[in-house]
Amino acid sequence: MLTLLELLKDGRFHSGQALGDALGVSRSAIWKQLQLLESELGLAVHKVRGRGYQLPSPIILLGAKEVSKHSSSLAWPVHVFDSIDSTSAEALRSIGRGCAAPFLVLAERQTDGRGRRGRKWVSPFAENVYYSLVLRVEGGMRQLEGLSLVVGLAVMNALRECGVPGAGLKWPNDVLVGQKKIAGILLELVGDPADVCHVVVGIGINVNMQSAEEVDQEWTSVRLESGKVLDRNQMIGRLNEILALYLERHRSGGFPAIQEEWEQGHLWQGRAVSLIAGANKIDGVVLGIDRQGALRLRVGGEEKVYSGGELSLRLRKEP
Ligand code: ATP
Repeated sequence: MLTLLELLKDGRFHSGQALGDALGVSRSAIWKQLQLLESELGLAVHKVRGRGYQLPSPIILLGAKEVSKHSSSLAWPVHVFDSIDSTSAEALRSIGRGCAAPFLVLAERQTDGRGRRGRKWVSPFAENVYYSLVLRVEGGMRQLEGLSLVVGLAVMNALRECGVPGAGLKWPNDVLVGQKKIAGILLELVGDPADVCHVVVGIGINVNMQSAEEVDQEWTSVRLESGKVLDRNQMIGRLNEILALYLERHRSGGFPAIQEEWEQGHLWQGRAVSLIAGANKIDGVVLGIDRQGALRLRVGGEEKVYSGGELSLRLRKEP
């Protein structure tokens, strides 16, 4: 099926005969494979009598070599999957098999992409970036403090470089354009956080996606914002380089070295918000973050600090 896609990825018309000849199969076998492309990968294939088959637009598939070419200063091994449950689930399995970190897991699509608290990350084929980087962390808790915020900052900067100047942050680690979500980040940890552990840095970025009815909140993509189709290999290469620089700054200076820059990128500084913690809701105004990356809110005239993985921010009307 993917060999057929290799032939169609240029976005031009190909006759059933030419495709059959190239793959050494009959036209009816091509027809069956085209139907699989549609049903299994969700790709729309245009069929025009007398001309053949065509994808709605050209596709650039992911390639480990292409990604490495665009991040030549790094020697992270890259594993690319056509389809996987979740890049982070695969990364965790690889850690279990003893794969040496750092390494990167990428996929063309995820069948069970995940967000926080069991939520789903919509992950159609060949449109976006589904990225899990595995790091070995030896420095104890200090090396983990604020790490997910640092990743958000790196993703925001990669997006700004790739033609989305309005990309900004929402505490703790969403990347938005205005109120629309363009990227999500999920860190998972295995091992002893006080000693040696592995962190899986999961990142989903909407790159060329133009429609996704399953996403149940406002969202956008690089293509929708910039009007341009992006080569995801190039974008991942840049993300690798930017992320590596931020990780090094965080490793050597801790989160305080990055705190101010993070606040500059925070879209909701000074805004009236509700902080949702399970069934509880706390209304306040965002003051910023502290030296560990915890949220500082003014609540009823007092400053309060909040941290933890189960917290969500929502904007509320100014009082
Ligand atoms: P928070 O609790 O921080 O407000 P959230 O509701 O955005 O976060 P996450 O766990 O960060 O939740 O992300 C999962 C949610 O993101 C899903 O429940 C869905 O609403 C949305 N979502 C899923 N896929 C995508 C996508 N490809 N692009 C944008 N948003 C998505």
